[in-house]
Amino acid sequence: MKSVAAFLATAALALATPCLAQAVTQADTVDTSLPTQLPRTAIPHHYAIHVVPHAERLAFDGDVGIDLEVVAATRELVLNAADLKLASATLRPAKGGAALPASISLDPKAQTAALAFDRSIEPGAYHLAIRYSGVIHTQANGLFALDYKNAEGKDARSLFTQFEAADARRFVPSWDEPDYKATWDLTARVPAKSMAVSNMPAASTKQLAGGLKEVKFQTTPIMSSYLLFFADGDFDRISKPAGGREVGIVVSRGNGEKARTALDDEAQILPYYNDYFGTPYPLPKLDNVAGPGQSQFFSAMENWGAIFTFEYAILDDPAITTEAQRQNIFETEAHEMAHQWFGDLVTMAWWDDLWLNEGFASWMENKATQHFHPDWGADIDRVGARESAMGLDSLNSTHPVVQQVRTVEQANQAFDSIAYSKGQSVIAMLEAFATPDVWRDGIRRYVAAHAYRNTRTTDLWAAQEAAGAKGLTTIATDFTTQPGIPLITVGPAQCVSGATVATLTQGQFSADRRAEVSASPQSWHVPVRASAGGQEAQVVTQGRTTQLSVPGCGPLLVNAGQTGYYRTLYTPQEAAALTAAVPKLAPVDQYGVIADSMTLSTTGYQPMAVGLAFLDSLPANGSADVTQHVVGLWDEIYDLLDGDPALQKAIAARVTAKYGPRLRQLGFTPRDGEPVADTTLRPTLIATLGKYRDPQVQAEAARLFAAWKQDPNAIPGSLKTTWLRAIARNANAATWDAIHERAKATAGNVERTALYQLLGRAEDEALARRALELALTNEPGKTISSGIMTSVAVAHPRLAIDFVLSHLAEVNQLIDISGRSRFMQRLASSSRDPALIPILEAYAKDHLAESDRKPIQQAIDRIRSESEQTARIHAETEAWLKAHPQG
Ligand SMILES: [Zn+2]
Repeated sequence: MKSVAAFLATAALALATPCLAQAVTQADTVDTSLPTQLPRTAIPHHYAIHVVPHAERLAFDGDVGIDLEVVAATRELVLNAADLKLASATLRPAKGGAALPASISLDPKAQTAALAFDRSIEPGAYHLAIRYSGVIHTQANGLFALDYKNAEGKDARSLFTQFEAADARRFVPSWDEPDYKATWDLTARVPAKSMAVSNMPAASTKQLAGGLKEVKFQTTPIMSSYLLFFADGDFDRISKPAGGREVGIVVSRGNGEKARTALDDEAQILPYYNDYFGTPYPLPKLDNVAGPGQSQFFSAMENWGAIFTFEYAILDDPAITTEAQRQNIFETEAHEMAHQWFGDLVTMAWWDDLWLNEGFASWMENKATQHFHPDWGADIDRVGARESAMGLDSLNSTHPVVQQVRTVEQANQAFDSIAYSKGQSVIAMLEAFATPDVWRDGIRRYVAAHAYRNTRTTDLWAAQEAAGAKGLTTIATDFTTQPGIPLITVGPAQCVSGATVATLTQGQFSADRRAEVSASPQSWHVPVRASAGGQEAQVVTQGRTTQLSVPGCGPLLVNAGQTGYYRTLYTPQEAAALTAAVPKLAPVDQYGVIADSMTLSTTGYQPMAVGLAFLDSLPANGSADVTQHVVGLWDEIYDLLDGDPALQKAIAARVTAKYGPRLRQLGFTPRDGEPVADTTLRPTLIATLGKYRDPQVQAEAARLFAAWKQDPNAIPGSLKTTWLRAIARNANAATWDAIHERAKATAGNVERTALYQLLGRAEDEALARRALELALTNEPGKTISSGIMTSVAVAHPRLAIDFVLSHLAEVNQLIDISGRSRFMQRLASSSRDPALIPILEAYAKDHLAESDRKPIQQAIDRIRSESEQTARIHAETEAWLKAHPQG
């Protein structure tokens, strides 16, 4: 899956056929060392599902035939089922004989169905037949409906499925755990006029009476239940050959041209991955199916052969798509396509190793982006991912990359920035340690050895060592089985015979337990790369102190290239020398050292003056990609000073004086042929200076808004959300009403969704309240409403949380089932108010099982640690501003 958190982080900164399966014999034994919620008495080999959706009444009928092996004599079979009614279940031996009826009992809490027989079932091959019915959901779990206005402006409804982590059980009674791999036949009865899509191409289509047809899809390769996919609707499909297969994009009718960018991206990526993984993509086709609306928790899902992506992350709509979003289309496809190998062909055995899927896909997405689009600044985005991971990983309530998952809820919560961004960062570090060629060879060995099977994290390290990455397992084990972040303290550097020599002392970085971890830090083997104006050198830390020697006697840069997952604390002298050298560093190092130093300052490891000096050291005409991120860091300081308008004004003045001229130089509208980094920097500057009420930006916003009220195309599509967000933030009632009216009148689903979200951005509290009330009505649409609440929470977290708590039952209907326990964490993410802590504690106690409270605890730990630093940050920032007037 592609998590929304990852996308939002980037967006905020940017403001902005051959069935090889048949050749693989399936195991007839079960791995009893794996966690499971099902008794290990039977192994399913093949499912034949027949489904009849009744879209108009949000229900479906189904029957399934399951070929299975009973491996231990038993009187009952237990499999997963949720929101399903089972009408009948019978079991007969595969070699023939009487069918045994089962008596059925459902356990909604465990999400299981127990099928009891009146005599013992002996080991052997059987066929289990179940007739059942289920519900079509209105959020993205199980089989779900998305409603929208079609090309003629009429109400339309399409159906899709979303099964990860554990929602296939809402579609079919099944052994719904990732290590129960099986082959799947899907047959669907659908309206004759609609298009049905699944993992495999259709094998046959039969016209039926009553305007219906029956579509039978080809048998899938062996795969996990969470990867099964079905969609049906009024679709168009565009396609082309690529990498020896067919790639396609499926969209609601009339949107085909908006899918060209995505199709071209897909066709470019597939041959690259065929080569990188060394095993060609095994299915006959790879579709990417677009759905209107959104989820708060994911933007796309890697169903094998039939990726699902919400329209905003796949359609390139000239009316609304920004350059950053256009880049996100490529990145999202690169992510989901990487999963076709890493996740789909080779699958983690259990959710403990979810990071193998998500960390790897995030890293591969970044690698593919750097390969095809070297001017998009993806190396700098990789450092952004490191920073986002460290935000969570520096708290007491973090967890190791490989973690213990025991409940369905914990599996859902596992999709966090540790799995995605720390996973990505650790892999980037290991690739640099192994060297890219050795690492790729290790990946090829891993994929070839484990295709169509399940793995654990240790299998990947073994493949890398076999490929020649000696010593990698030690480093990898430290970083994946221990939580937290190493802190490398750099002793005074000395120039000795043309080399820079320094002692590195290893400790642990913590945002909320500094004294505790410095007294007894964890220990890692950290590969440290460094430079001092000459060649880079690498050393792996052993124990508490390690000697570093680097050719050259320039300013010492530790973590050169920024592939290391650790923080670096310099002596004041080394920090000052490096600050002076920032203008000459590579862009990736500029952003890396600035972000690292700012966090060490805001968490109290060093005075604010050190971090602010780094922040201030980037030249006003520096790299556009770095500028974009650095302006974001200034804005974080601005937000940290909330409650101190005079100091905020001083920061705003400083940022405006430094970067205002850059915006004037770029101009308010994109120029033909400009560097793409300028195109993505412009919206960041407009948004930030707009937030600081820069008069020129405000005047242009007012001019554009007046024109837009007359003509919806008066603002260029690539800047529309940027300008309207600036306008919505400062909205009065008349402005808010005008945006609301336009949202109601807009037909394009992506644009309509974006406009509704904007209504939540008003700083005016009365308007924020109106947005929350609007979200609870049927007007925005079932999957749009939660996004309005999230928008409100950016400026008014307490207001949004109080509102949600007082309407919890209604709000829960507007969120994916799998995301409910994380929604409150999302709403709290911009708050530093300690008064929120008891409210969050009470919410967790009343609504979440004790095992499932980690996201709330993380929100609490973050608020507590940040609020403890507030007074010091204010005082030290004020002193620094006085001592360093704008130059
Ligand atoms: Zn993913």
